Amino acid sequence: MMRKVIVLGEVRDGSLRNVSFEALAAGKTIAAGGEVIAVLIGEDVSSYIDKLVQYGADRIIKVEHIHLKNYTSDGYSQALLAVIEKEDPEGVVFGHTALGKDLAPKIAARIQSGLISDITALETADDNVIFTRPIYSGKAFEKKIVTDGPIFVTVRPNNIAPLEMDESRKGEVSALQVDIKDIRTIVKEVLQKASKGVDLSEAKVVVAGGRGVKSEQGFKPLQELADVLGGAVGASRGACDADYCDYSLQIGQTGKVVTPDLYIACGISGAIQHVAGMSNSKVIIAINKDPDANIFKIADYGIVGDLFEVVAILTKELREIIQ
Ligand code: FAD
Repeated sequence: MMRKVIVLGEVRDGSLRNVSFEALAAGKTIAAGGEVIAVLIGEDVSSYIDKLVQYGADRIIKVEHIHLKNYTSDGYSQALLAVIEKEDPEGVVFGHTALGKDLAPKIAARIQSGLISDITALETADDNVIFTRPIYSGKAFEKKIVTDGPIFVTVRPNNIAPLEMDESRKGEVSALQVDIKDIRTIVKEVLQKASKGVDLSEAKVVVAGGRGVKSEQGFKPLQELADVLGGAVGASRGACDADYCDYSLQIGQTGKVVTPDLYIACGISGAIQHVAGMSNSKVIIAINKDPDANIFKIADYGIVGDLFEVVAILTKELREIIQ
């Protein structure tokens, strides 16, 4: 069954988030040969069009308005609902980001549809699309299908491979005028709390520090290693509670969920609440001076030793190999 599918292109800090390309790949599977429409919402979004087409969008609809400069739930939902009303899609795909987590349930509820959130994989069987999503903080996975109404999903970053970029692809572009009004929240200022580097939830490599890092200064060697590997720095709650780093870096049950290709845990004991946020990483390396630390139970490679010594050696060796 061919479906018309809408995918929200998400822009942050002047560029499209990677998860938008992953959402497009999911959209292609759901569409099953039907049309995939990427929607761009903002004040001026023209510069993002080409990339969405190159990653698989057949058509782009842009909704531009001065009140859409910053994300607000009211503004974006008016814009997206107008597109949905006009296009009447059989599927709508969002990234499972702070924005997607806020907007997707609101839109799904407005049109009285269900929502499958945080999908990590999808496959087709006959006319159905079967979605996989983690439950119990990643300890198990469930498979779900939508039996009635449009398919609404949010896609967990770093789990679904984007399509190969094709610079020769062409897509039709149109603008939809929407009268954006009655916005109840005003964004006065956007404060950049975390470092400006690689986005933690989308990073392919995460170097995470725990209480074993011992101080704010102790995070510097971790940042150096992350920089060499083109990755991002994360932390356990232990490190955040001790004020060694900002809570925006916290990974775990009450922090961010990450699924990088490589997770390097430095001085982290491996408490269940931390593991909930990183256990689905593809390769896990743990560095801990305690050979009985729980983190070694889920690690693919374990290094028993002082993290500062090990991180310094890794950074030096990898810098020589990579540069
Ligand atoms: P510790 O448990 O103190 O471990 C420090 C580790 O560093 C030890 O294993 C030690 O051997 C090692 N170490 C020390 N020095 C060195 C050295 N020089 N070299 C190498 N290794 C060294 N935690 C999270 O992380 N994320 C969450 O989202 C989260 N949510 C929670 C929600 C609830 C409701 C509760 C109750 C707890 C939550 N926690 C969470 C806290 C969690 O239970 C742990 O307390 C926390 O993860 C411990 O952090 P840690 O591993 O950095 O510290």
